[in-house]
Amino acid sequence: MDLYEADSQIGGQFLMARRIPGKEEFDETLRYYRRQLDLLGVHLHLNTPVQAETLSGKGYEEVVLATGVSPRRIRLPGIDHPGVMSYVDLLKHGRKAGSRVAIIGAGGIGFDVAEYLTHREQPAEDAIPAFLAEWGVDSGYRWPGALQPPRPQRSGRELYLLQRKTSKPGAGLGKTTGWIHRAALRKRGVHMLAGVEYLGIDDSGLHIRREGREQLLEVDTVVVCAGQEPLRQLAAPLEALGMRVHLIGGADEARELDAKRAIDQASRLAARLD
Ligand SMILES: Cc1cc2nc3c(=O)[nH]c(=O)nc-3n(C[C@H](O)[C@H](O)[C@H](O)COP(=O)(O)OP(=O)(O)OC[C@H]3O[C@@H](n4cnc5c(N)ncnc54)[C@H](O)[C@@H]3O)c2cc1C
Repeated sequence: MDLYEADSQIGGQFLMARRIPGKEEFDETLRYYRRQLDLLGVHLHLNTPVQAETLSGKGYEEVVLATGVSPRRIRLPGIDHPGVMSYVDLLKHGRKAGSRVAIIGAGGIGFDVAEYLTHREQPAEDAIPAFLAEWGVDSGYRWPGALQPPRPQRSGRELYLLQRKTSKPGAGLGKTTGWIHRAALRKRGVHMLAGVEYLGIDDSGLHIRREGREQLLEVDTVVVCAGQEPLRQLAAPLEALGMRVHLIGGADEARELDAKRAIDQASRLAARLD
């Protein structure tokens, strides 16, 4: 069994997700899979971007295409401005955002990027006191109901989280945790705007129209989080070479942030192929 990976390590989007404050435990999932690959004797080929010819003549009958997604590019005047980046540039390629940032797209990744950019780095031992302070929890029971005035973290960044839809930003987040993400960002002073029409980007910032009024958001960085497209152009050439191709995960359906679905699909397929 061979597993090919273009990158120098396994993990795909998890390598970005684990950088989001609160999602650090994704590292453990990766540790688990690295160990399983070892235990099961899977031949792992890192730094190997596959093309159809890479697999040709190797006797493979079944190919599982788990190539994931590519971030959706948007068309907008000024989209090539040096202050514009995708979430991949920020979370994977180490590009730095400035102090005034607009995020285009308030889906799961947009919210994660807002969390990442407003989070103040602190030593691990300060994390619990900082959490209690941010949410106004009085662990010493000095205040009535153990609730003290919250002291929100301030990152020093001015941040706009924008969406085209007129619905409430973050309406599609998880039912049990969505309200927490919205409340945390609101406490940190993030401006969440819905019903935004994007007009263009230039040296003065991001030009938008909202409720019929043109507005300039004076930002130095625009992070595009405008969805993802399935990456599956290898499917047709592999089939043409006579291999049976199975699409799973983001390569099959890029719409949601859903690693559980990807892993479930992979496990069921593996059981069928066994
Ligand atoms: C910031 C962020 C936060 C997220 N948070 C969550 C969350 O909280 N919960 C959740 O369920 N999901 C979350 N996700 C989504 C989750 O990470 C994805 O659903 C999951 O990683 C999809 O797995 P996949 O295997 O389909 O694709 P990917 O993780 O995209 O992996 C695809 C892999 O294929 C490799 N590849 C592509 N083309 C080739 C090629 N030609 N040859 C060789 N290798 C190739 C890529 O290098 C990559 O490693 C998050 C994603 C991001 C970006």
